[in-house]
Amino acid sequence: MKDIVKEQIKNLPVYETGKPIEYVAREFGLDPDGILKMASNENPLGASPKALEAVRKHISTLNYYPDGGCYELRQKLAKFWNLQPNQFAFGNGSNELLEFVAQCYVDKDDETVFGAQSFIVYKLATIFMGGKCVSVPMPNLKYDLDMLRDAVSEKTKIVFMTNPNNPTGCVLKQDEVVNFVKSLPENVIFCYDEAYAEYEENQVDLRPLIAEGRNVICLRTFSKIYGLAGLRIGYAYTNEQIAGYINRAREPFNVNTLAQVGALAAIDDVEFVEQSRKINNEGRKQFEKAFADLGLEYFSEGGNFVMVKHNKALEAFVQMQKQGVIVRPNVGYGLPDWLRITIGKPEQNQRCIEELKKTL
Ligand SMILES: *Cc1c(COP(=O)(O)O)cnc(C)c1O
Repeated sequence: MKDIVKEQIKNLPVYETGKPIEYVAREFGLDPDGILKMASNENPLGASPKALEAVRKHISTLNYYPDGGCYELRQKLAKFWNLQPNQFAFGNGSNELLEFVAQCYVDKDDETVFGAQSFIVYKLATIFMGGKCVSVPMPNLKYDLDMLRDAVSEKTKIVFMTNPNNPTGCVLKQDEVVNFVKSLPENVIFCYDEAYAEYEENQVDLRPLIAEGRNVICLRTFSKIYGLAGLRIGYAYTNEQIAGYINRAREPFNVNTLAQVGALAAIDDVEFVEQSRKINNEGRKQFEKAFADLGLEYFSEGGNFVMVKHNKALEAFVQMQKQGVIVRPNVGYGLPDWLRITIGKPEQNQRCIEELKKTL
């Protein structure tokens, strides 16, 4: 048979996820229960207990289709953000929303602009639509906003930005982001990925820009600080028109019932969020001190992870797995000498540090 698949599908790079615990257990003959995964920025405290309780309560309703409109969650978030219910769109994780945004705005040969060491899904979503990626260098693992702005051309449809950035963790302040958005031409969409925003003391707020009518799409997820990565739910808040377009791109039941009730309960779990933030701040200090003591170069600003430089990063990645600790190499991001480590509980961090030490 002749292979008639579209060129962009054939050439699409593969998104390498953090290595699942079961894979490492099989590959190295380990007991999965003893494996520590610090590779995908998952919450070390587990899931929000309030969310878990809500999920359990709704298990018996699984014979019904979910509410395709996410009515209750939409009302709840509208109150939470002081926005209108129809300013939201929901996705099977915010990953899916990134794809919807690209589907809505990127045609063949259109360009998108993003940081070279920023979330790889921006690249995948663009290529998938036949678009062209303009990937902007990030000197010293940070955004250079002038360079990013200079990369915007008449062909640019979307500028993607993550703050705090994944995988580097660099953080931009309110004024920096706002001034950058104001400098963009009015026919460009600014897609602002806030996957790690809740870990920040002072969160950037782009609602005033949305209210001014600018083309701003903010994305949030329940996968990180709420600890619900396995449920798959995220949302966009933007103006009503754009939210309407994103809604047209999705399939009718893209967010499942348990995800909706879990998210609804998680929003109220203020205690869990605060605890997650606290343990993250403490763990960051623990890693920073250990890296300094070991004489390792590191980058640590925001998010729930740290970056550490290792002259044999890939070998260390393998050796640590043999000891049951999974971290994340960054070869795909052009950072072959850096490991990204998700911040865990104190004893988990300590175990990771000990295993890292043995690789030096
Ligand atoms: C984890 C993450 C997301 C969220 O992904 P989900 O699909 O919601 O699990 C989005 N953007 C970035 C940069 C992330 O790191």
